[in-house]
Amino acid sequence: MLLTMKEMLAVAREHRFSVGAFNICDSLLMKTVIETAEENDSPVIVELAPPEFDYVGEEFFKYVVERLEKSSVPAVLHLDHGRTLDQVKKAIACGFTSVMIDGSLLDYDGNAALTKEVVDYCHPLGISVEAEIGTIGTLNGPEGGAEEIVYTKPEDVIRFIRDTGADSLAIAIGTAHGIYPSDKIPELRLDILREIDAITPVPLVLHGGSSNNDEEIHEAAVSGISKVNIASDYRKAFFERLTDTLNETHAFWSGDVYPEAIEAGKEVIRHKMKLFECTGKAGLYK
Ligand SMILES: [Zn+2]
Repeated sequence: MLLTMKEMLAVAREHRFSVGAFNICDSLLMKTVIETAEENDSPVIVELAPPEFDYVGEEFFKYVVERLEKSSVPAVLHLDHGRTLDQVKKAIACGFTSVMIDGSLLDYDGNAALTKEVVDYCHPLGISVEAEIGTIGTLNGPEGGAEEIVYTKPEDVIRFIRDTGADSLAIAIGTAHGIYPSDKIPELRLDILREIDAITPVPLVLHGGSSNNDEEIHEAAVSGISKVNIASDYRKAFFERLTDTLNETHAFWSGDVYPEAIEAGKEVIRHKMKLFECTGKAGLYK
């Protein structure tokens, strides 16, 4: 069943768990994500950032939308890190039920104006909008990010939602996109999260959730965050297993090559769903 993000996150926020948002960029990763959600009776968010969107091509979404509409668990199709109204319009035309507009690299007024423009376009169409204030760091990968992390100021949150009407808000509490090198330990500011959780009028989103310490991510996922984005972790597991299989077997039939990679990706997603406490929560949406 396909929902909007507003419907998805309202339940997560009420019950204090997070829904995993997994970036896909082909039908194998789509299969990996949606099957894991169904096997674990978990709500799920399937998302693509603009470079991923362009890579798969618009026709791909006929399959994705139909698969999500028929899924046995609640699902959202979400545009991750949209940067322009044009990208947002394209995603909506392809059946997305939710978009992110990321004006976080602009100053406050520029970010608020861009976000409001997107909200004004999306709300009459019944599409949810995620915005971002503060900046998420960048390590690698197609989502981008800022060189320096600027932590979200709690006092900006209420003002920004009032100025824009956004439905959910990505906040910066110290994460970065991608996989951390071994000498770089992310430092999550859970104190800032708690401060924002106490005052925010909308559900909160955590980006850059890959390869963070499990305990910290779990703590964030049940302390006011309602959506956690994961791209790198599970895809890395998928492609590492795929490389091993190809090197070991030299197989050239999909049925011999992909199942182990899919299982490796599923294992990571299952683990994340447990950390987010969304395993078994699909029933709350009926
Ligand atoms: Zn992100």
